[in-house]
Amino acid sequence: GFPPSSKLLLVFTLSGGGLIAYSESQSNSPANSIENERLKNKKKVVVLGTGWASTSFLKDLNISSYDVQVVSPRNYFAFTPLLPSVTCGTVEARSIVEPVRNIIKKKNGEIQFWEAECTKIDAANKKVSCRSVIDSNLLGKKEFSLDYDYLVVATGAEVNTFNTPGVNEHCHFLKEVEDAQKIRRSVIDCFEKAILPELTDEERRINLHFVVVGGGPTGVEFAAELHDFVHEDLVKLYPMVKDLVKITVIQSGDHILNTYDNRISTFAETKFARDGIDVHTGCRVLSVSDKEVNMKIKSTGENVSMPHGMVVWSTGVSTRPVVKDFMGQIGQEKRKVLATDEWLRVKGSENVYAIGDCATIDQRKIMEDIAAIFNAADKDKSGTLTVEEFHDIIDDIVIRYPQVELHLQNKHLSSVTDLLNDPDGNARKAVDIEGFKLALCQADSQMKSLPATAQVAAQQGTYLSRCFNKMDLAKITPEGPRRFKGTGRHEFLPFRYKHLGQFAPLGGEQAAAELPGDWVSVGRSTQWLWYSIYASKQVSWRTRVLVVSDWTRRFIFGRDSSRI
Ligand code: FAD
Repeated sequence: GFPPSSKLLLVFTLSGGGLIAYSESQSNSPANSIENERLKNKKKVVVLGTGWASTSFLKDLNISSYDVQVVSPRNYFAFTPLLPSVTCGTVEARSIVEPVRNIIKKKNGEIQFWEAECTKIDAANKKVSCRSVIDSNLLGKKEFSLDYDYLVVATGAEVNTFNTPGVNEHCHFLKEVEDAQKIRRSVIDCFEKAILPELTDEERRINLHFVVVGGGPTGVEFAAELHDFVHEDLVKLYPMVKDLVKITVIQSGDHILNTYDNRISTFAETKFARDGIDVHTGCRVLSVSDKEVNMKIKSTGENVSMPHGMVVWSTGVSTRPVVKDFMGQIGQEKRKVLATDEWLRVKGSENVYAIGDCATIDQRKIMEDIAAIFNAADKDKSGTLTVEEFHDIIDDIVIRYPQVELHLQNKHLSSVTDLLNDPDGNARKAVDIEGFKLALCQADSQMKSLPATAQVAAQQGTYLSRCFNKMDLAKITPEGPRRFKGTGRHEFLPFRYKHLGQFAPLGGEQAAAELPGDWVSVGRSTQWLWYSIYASKQVSWRTRVLVVSDWTRRFIFGRDSSRI
């Protein structure tokens, strides 16, 4: 029944008590008071979430100078890339989750975890309000609040239904472990329903029509898993309905996997056509009922209805309500996603960081920032700068926005570059600021925001923990150029995303991969690469062993079709 803050005190008091019991004569020793002082001086860090971003932040964080509390409605980390495999029993749900307490116990138990959801971020008072998600009687103590010095928001995102009528009521989502477990039970239900006596063939056919809305990586991977499950396992158990099963993927764009290289989307479409998976591209779903999916064919404007046995909705993500509310408080209400700068600090608030799917680095602001840098440097408002001033600005911009560096080679800048290479460079030269800004604007249109992936989230978590670990040191020895010291901008180098490639498992032991350096790989060998990478990326040896043994079990005995 203690509020968490007093619990925390109790923990500290108890640990102090442990020392007293060990040796009373030590209780007032200088070493002890230094330790107590150290604990008192620790900055309070509250981390929201136990997903990809937050766990990679926690794993690398040096907690000697921080008092860390983690709040999440989920007391485990889930390895989301294997969720589609859970929907069909290729991998068991428990094999892809790691209790968060296992992760934090490696930090000598100094991190506190509260199984609760954050209901409000009060940035003005540096406080978060939380509500326990435990249903049982908590004697009215469900709600509590936590103070922070630093807040790390890593709450991920929620499914985007685009407010399409009927989606919440009649579709499955594939976002959480529970969703995957529900899908697994529903697939078996559809088969059990389809073989009940006295059904017409048409009714059986409808029960066995699986519709996937969304042709992105998750939708495509689920369709491929389902196809394998049906054709490798279920047709043997339900032979009487094996010819009635149909899988359909509905995609609003012109191709499935349209964020991948063209070669991969073509390979996927050809493979799906061969496997008998129907792909309807250029269709927008208007509503979903318990019996039908209603959609508009974009090219003809025609509305059509498609009867279904089950629908899985996988069309991307949107902002969670608690983050939306926070955005309203800090003047970001017009934005779709919480914006941070390139050091992952939330714009418009102090000491709040946001990582992973809940935030995006605000690329659109980059041009405004660059313009501001120019205007500040152009003190006499002449529209010209000296070459030295120009060099300083370029250094500043390039460190903050590495993408811009590439575009400095751009032909639009040749006149500027010529000028900089002028042997008579010490003389005051006029640099055409407007021309330069225009060229950067063109570069800006080529800058893309980072995708909402585990890869980005994990790299951001690691980057932020590195910044936290060097927080004091960087104030004295900034990582950026020394001449900017004191401006607060270059204490750390900005976050740089390193794309390590992406996979798309397509069923039948075949996968496609986009690897760094514009490499594309498809086929069986890519599937084996997928197995080895996903085994190596597991967060613990426990889950690694479980996942590999699930794959082996599936190879030997097939998938389990019990509805439990
Ligand atoms: P999450 O991992 O979603 O974690 C968010 C955390 O915040 C959770 O612990 C949640 O419980 C918690 N939370 C939610 N609300 C609150 C609240 N109010 N208060 C406190 N805590 C809260 N990415 C890849 O790179 N490769 C893949 O192959 C891949 N496959 C995927 C397959 C599927 C089926 C899905 C759904 C996603 C996949 N992704 C993949 C995307 C990847 O999972 C996400 O980009 C990643 O999870 C984002 O990490 P995150 O930490 O921001 O959010």
